[in-house]
Amino acid sequence: MISPAIRYSCKILGVLFLTMGSSSYAASPDQTGITRVSITERSDKTGYVLRLHSDKYIQAFSPPREAGDDRYELTVFNTDVSTSIRKDDPSGPISTYNLTTRDGHTVFRFTVLPGMKIDASAYRDRDTNDLLVGLIYSSGDSQTTETIAARPLQPVENDGPSVGARNRWRLDTIVIDAGHGGKDPGTSKHGVREKDVTLAVAKKVGAYLEEYLKVNVIYTRDDDRFIDLKKRGEIANKAGGKLFVSIHADAQARGSSANGATMYILGTHKTKAAREAMERENSVVSFEADQSAYSGINNQSIIMQTLAQSSYMRQSEQLASLLEKQFAQRANRKTRGVKQAGFWVLWHASMPAVLIELGFVTNRGDARYMDSELGQTYLASAIYRAIRDYKFEYEKELSLTTSQ
Ligand SMILES: [Zn+2]
Repeated sequence: MISPAIRYSCKILGVLFLTMGSSSYAASPDQTGITRVSITERSDKTGYVLRLHSDKYIQAFSPPREAGDDRYELTVFNTDVSTSIRKDDPSGPISTYNLTTRDGHTVFRFTVLPGMKIDASAYRDRDTNDLLVGLIYSSGDSQTTETIAARPLQPVENDGPSVGARNRWRLDTIVIDAGHGGKDPGTSKHGVREKDVTLAVAKKVGAYLEEYLKVNVIYTRDDDRFIDLKKRGEIANKAGGKLFVSIHADAQARGSSANGATMYILGTHKTKAAREAMERENSVVSFEADQSAYSGINNQSIIMQTLAQSSYMRQSEQLASLLEKQFAQRANRKTRGVKQAGFWVLWHASMPAVLIELGFVTNRGDARYMDSELGQTYLASAIYRAIRDYKFEYEKELSLTTSQ
């Protein structure tokens, strides 16, 4: 018998195929709106901040990119502009700016004064729904650099990266996402339920991270409860997570021979196995009360979201390969490689993100291992070690780039 979850995933596939190749984007009914643009100078005088005030949570945005001739642009996805928007006059290094909406997304463009060199970055405000675009005078402008150097830098809140604010970018908060839960058991076979395995391993990983790395651990769930896919990313973003690790277990559609662990990062799938894993994990939205958030998802938006996540792609890949190495070395597991697929749970997290399929519930050996205390300890230990190594490499790079 086909389970409700599988039937729903077929329905989603139908939608995907129908909209493929079309450039239309079905905006969700609860479209986010930008209500105001304000401009302020950073408190340490090293640049300016553009604040895009939003009345709703912004799911995703792209990093600002240079568009030539002192122009920059970034895209705020699934977001509209309020008809009664209030806009500050351009000031500081900003000479003009505008917002345009297309296909349900907003493109924010701005130009800086001719010849002005800036480093632009976009990031969320921790306390509101607003998106902040930080413009820091770049060291390419010698006069500005001298002026800045003469002034002591102070740590600043919500002003984006600077030497003084380096701590903002430290890998201090790690989000551990135990897949499934509550009414959604995930895959069940051989008396093993995916939701139990993922929770047990997640809690062990979190305990190791807290004890040995002294970082904040945010669990999307720490008991047997159901959490929407979209909500998981929101929990991660609102907590200011620097890394998102989603823990799942695999299933083979037919047969039981497939075994081993797979690491996934967001992208377009290239293999049948990756597509099947993605469809299975995404199909859990059939348990959610409100599915309108997913109604606008099609191939085009997956590609755009992959672009939005692309600033984290290198880091996600780095973590995924460290995980693969530890699964082989520490846990002595068969590994099936680092793959890409359009997992919705990864799409909502605005940070480097990896989804781990620990092993196959449908394989007797894997199932027994994942269900055992010893197996769970080794799996958690492998994940902990990979994150530890990632943190070490990441912070080494961070100190190199910010101490120049
Ligand atoms: Zn799963």
